Formats: sequence, C-alpha cells, structure tokens
Amino acid sequence: MTTKTHVLVINCGSSSIKFALIDAASGEQIVSGLAERLGQPEAMLTWRVDGHKDSGPIPGADHATAMRHIAARLEEVTQARYGEPVAARLGGIGHRVVHGGEAFTASTVIDEKVLATVEACNHLAPLHNPANLLGIRTAQALFPDLPQVAVFDTAFHQTLPKHAYLYAVPYAYYTEHGVRRYGFHGTSHRYVTRRAAQLLDKPYEECALISAHLGNGCSATAVLNGRSVDTTMGLTPLEGLVMGTRSGDVDPSLHSFLAGELGLNLAQITDILNKQSGLLGLSGLSNDLRTLEEAAAEGHERAILAIEVFCYRLAKQIAALAVPLGRIDALIFTGGIGENSPLVRAKTLARLAVFGFAVDPARNDGLPRGGHGLITQPIGPAALVVPTDEELMIAQDTAGLIE
Ligand code: ADP
Repeated sequence: MTTKTHVLVINCGSSSIKFALIDAASGEQIVSGLAERLGQPEAMLTWRVDGHKDSGPIPGADHATAMRHIAARLEEVTQARYGEPVAARLGGIGHRVVHGGEAFTASTVIDEKVLATVEACNHLAPLHNPANLLGIRTAQALFPDLPQVAVFDTAFHQTLPKHAYLYAVPYAYYTEHGVRRYGFHGTSHRYVTRRAAQLLDKPYEECALISAHLGNGCSATAVLNGRSVDTTMGLTPLEGLVMGTRSGDVDPSLHSFLAGELGLNLAQITDILNKQSGLLGLSGLSNDLRTLEEAAAEGHERAILAIEVFCYRLAKQIAALAVPLGRIDALIFTGGIGENSPLVRAKTLARLAVFGFAVDPARNDGLPRGGHGLITQPIGPAALVVPTDEELMIAQDTAGLIE
C-alpha cells in the first residue's frame, strides 16, 4: 500500500480550475480552491485551508500558469502541515471528465489511448470535454511522474438497459451518431447511494434506491443492487427535472414552435432552454432557491409557482423511477437544494404519498446544516438526506486505481 495517500482532484472548465487536495485514506480535505476568469486580467485564485479562505490575483493567467499557482499553494500547505514537500504525500491526480460516451463504464488510469477516446467524445459535450482534456494535459505537463485518473459523470449510468437509454427515433441515429440517453451526475449518485446503503445498514448490492441530486443542475437516478438502471438526464444534461436555469423536459416540438413564433434560431432556443428557463424562467426572479423561498414567504406569486412546478415535476419523475426498481428502499436527497431545503423535500414527499412516504416534520426541519439522516416516519419507505461529496469519490477512485 502506498504511503502517498493524497490525491489532487481537478475539475477543469473553459475558464476555471476547481481543485482539492484530499487524503483519500482519511477522507480529509486538506486544501480546496478555485482559479477563475482564466485568460482575463481579473483572473483570481481563491483557496480554503482549515475553514480559512484566502485569495490573490493571478492577472492574465492561462490554465498552465494557474496550475503552477495551485501547485505553489499545495507546496506551502503541505510544508506547513507535514513539514515535507507535497511530492512526499501526493500519489496521483483525479480529473472530473463530463462525457465518457459508451467507451468508459468506470474510472480509468489516463494514457494516450484514453485521451484519444475522451477526445472522440468531444462532440457529445462540446462545452465540457475539451476543457477537461486541457486540465489533464496541463496537469500532466506539471506533474509528469504522477499517475492521472479520469472519473466520468456518465460512467455510472452505463449499466442502463437498452430499453431505458434509447430514444424512439430512427435507430441509425444511435448507431451512427451516438444519439441515446447517457445521464450525468454519476459520481454524485454513486457516492450518495453507497452512503445510503451504509446508513440503512444493508448491502449496497441488495438495495433499491432513488437519488435526487438537486443543485443548479438536477437529476434523479434509480439504483438497483448497486447499478444505475435509469436516470432523468439524457443525451445532454437538459433532459429531465426542472433545474435552476434549465427547462428539463419540454415538448420536443417547442424548438420549431418558438422558431416560427419568435424567429429564433436553434442555437438561441437551446440557449434559452439551458440558461433562461427552469426556476429562473418561471419565477422571473432568480435561479437560486434561497431567493425564491424568501420571496415565496412574502407572497411572491411566481416564486411560489416556480417552487410548485419544481417539486411536482420532481415527484413525477421520482415516481417514474420506481418502475425499474419494483420497490423503493429509500429516496435520497442531495445537492445544495436537496441537502438544505426542508420545504422542497416536504413538498416532494407529500406528492409521493402514493408510495407510503410520510415525512417527519421534526426530523426534516431539524436536520443540521451539512447533516445526514432519515427525514421520514418509521412507516413506509425511508427518505434520507445524504450530503454529496464528488471530490472524495474522485479521490477514492484515483487512490484505488493507482495503488
Ligand atoms: P451546483 O450544482 O452549482 O454545485 P449546489 O449544489 O451548490 O449547486 O446547489 C445550489 C442550489 O442550492 C441553489 O439553488 C441554492 O439556492 C440552493 N441552496 C443552498 N443552500 C440553501 C438553503 N439553505 N436553502 C435553500 N436552498 C439552498
């Protein structure tokens, strides 16, 4: 067993690098941070150690320069903490990669062949995969001797059966263009369902679970005996639940209708469905649930409506996910909304009474921030809050693969 138990977790975007140094053995996050607005004069690096936040300008920094600044912070922090260089602790680097297509069913150690395969998936996630690849290449250049691992958002959902992942469109679009449902948030769904099985004190391989990851992006997944069997996101993360700014499911004819009515082109309509819809579009106020809950409490009608639509559609999709499970051992709430909004949890569970869910208001309202646990009464299926930790999952996958 390696003594280098620390893993650097990287989530690289087109103009940002999110990072965390995690001791995969203990699960402790040593330092985390964000380099943002890369390529601009206002580029900044912020980092957090022991709950203490710090920041500094890195004007004009590109990804490579930002990565060097991040490496310098890691060096400082490990020197101060352990009195030895980061190289003495760091065993590998784990990268979040959004789209692995059908090529990756699990996390994998990165080599040139893997990079070429990820690149071949670029057309499926043109905004994300090229940025993820840039992050990998930048980290490889800076840490050439460290093993690097790719952890895919899509991999967990590769166990979906064909009848769940195919769209009813001409079959050749699937075989020739990869048109199918892939699903996303896989790392989070995998993490929280594993944790839920522990909390239920049941083998993961014998559980029927539904996880609802509710952040700015939202998706729900049915996990049967440790395998994802259906999920709400599809070819892209736009399908499924109502989200912060994404519409979720709409009539597929909406594009042609809006094009005819408003003279908008495809790119404009896709942009509206991704960035101006969801909670923001319905409320006309905000994509942030906190803001909407405050406004709703003061009687703001469209904030109330946005929350109602969000919870109703969530409940409806959760009910649909019971189909491949046959039973529900537990429903898991996670993500910024799932972890922090007793209102959304209570409203959603109330609409799922057909399954026997009975919310326990004291538990639901009384859960401490960052806390986990049961929020239903000891009748009917369980509903749990489980804080997600995608970084830890990436660190553990990385440590497991490089050992
Ligand atoms: P991301 O998908 O960007 O990681 P998060 O998981 O942080 O997003 O979730 C962001 C959402 O969580 C926002 O809608 C935010 O309003 C909501 N949220 C966070 N804290 C609370 C809270 N205390 N009450 C209600 N909603 C909250």
